[in-house]
Amino acid sequence: MNSSHHQGPLQFHETAWREIDLSAIASNYRAIRTAIGSTTKIIACLKQDAYGCGAEQVAALLCAAGVDAFGVVSIADALAVRKAAPRKPILMYPGIGPNAVDLVRELDLTISISGEEDLRGWLSTGMPLKIFVKVDLGFWRAGVAPSGLRRLIDLCASQANVVVEGLYAHLSEFGQAGASAQEQVARLTPLLKGLEATGHRPATIMVSSSESLLRHPEFDMDAVDPGALLFGLTGACAGRRGLLIRPALSAIKARIVALKASDDSMGAPPDLPGYHRAMRLAVLGIGWGHGVPRHLGPEASVLVRGRRASIVPPIHLEHLRINVTDIPEAELGDEAILLGAAGAERITLQDLADAWVTDETGAACGLRENLRRIHIAEK
Ligand SMILES: *Cc1c(COP(=O)(O)O)cnc(C)c1O
Repeated sequence: MNSSHHQGPLQFHETAWREIDLSAIASNYRAIRTAIGSTTKIIACLKQDAYGCGAEQVAALLCAAGVDAFGVVSIADALAVRKAAPRKPILMYPGIGPNAVDLVRELDLTISISGEEDLRGWLSTGMPLKIFVKVDLGFWRAGVAPSGLRRLIDLCASQANVVVEGLYAHLSEFGQAGASAQEQVARLTPLLKGLEATGHRPATIMVSSSESLLRHPEFDMDAVDPGALLFGLTGACAGRRGLLIRPALSAIKARIVALKASDDSMGAPPDLPGYHRAMRLAVLGIGWGHGVPRHLGPEASVLVRGRRASIVPPIHLEHLRINVTDIPEAELGDEAILLGAAGAERITLQDLADAWVTDETGAACGLRENLRRIHIAEK
């Protein structure tokens, strides 16, 4: 019996789970805080259930670490954050509408406003509103166009029920035509000067999320709202700041739920990649229903008892097969490691992303809610 047996298959009814290293998130937060200094606020972006790490647990941790505020998109995430952080500001990115007004009041949420029609909808509720105006500097998504910003801010200023707490943009991925960070921010600078001149500059101006935070310290401004960076999903992109960042998603594991040697009595040899007559297959209790992509790269493998076993496609809803012909000691109930280390072998998040034909954020955020989370705190 190996050590994983002593932990015992009976301790987990689940056949598959992920491990979230909360200490990595705390450490990433501290690295960001150290880099930007104490005067720029950190609005931690915890959308998509904190990038798959669990919004409530992450909010509790970041509250204790002294974060200034949170940003989310969905009401579900706002509820989870509010539970852990009774008094921190929560910024709703564009998504909810005026029909959520009761929850906005109850949870004390700050809403985003992306245009006049948007604002008028919220005004019709008669509710006092705390807002951040969102401006679109070239992302071509939500946000008022720079040409309409002044008019929108003036309209807000004329409303007794509205407090404009902030003005923000989410910069487009860089490297596309007309979308360099400098060009995008240059569309905002003269507008800010105009707002200052009329006394309508909101207290918080914010444009930097993970990528810009790493590459453009000059854009820190009043606040930054990183997401991916907090969870260590920015991979090799260390940027100009060279922060020491660790992935929070530290392991994905699944148990061997079936084992068999190839056997003629099952009929003609199946059309499995790498099939041969002496093949020994193990079946893991994880499948595309847990968020493993249906199509993996040919190098996709797992670790069993510290050794590599290739994944044998196709992948099923609840199961995936691995080739354990060369690991004769593999047993029913063994833990197989899709992500993480065993002995001298390691599958990093970048390795996993490559094998899953995506990037690190795609791999981490593609996992489904039914893949149980275990929060751990590594030293
Ligand atoms: C997703 C998102 C963020 C965080 O982006 P990262 O690249 O993950 O840091 C910040 N602001 C808005 C509006 C977002 O939608």
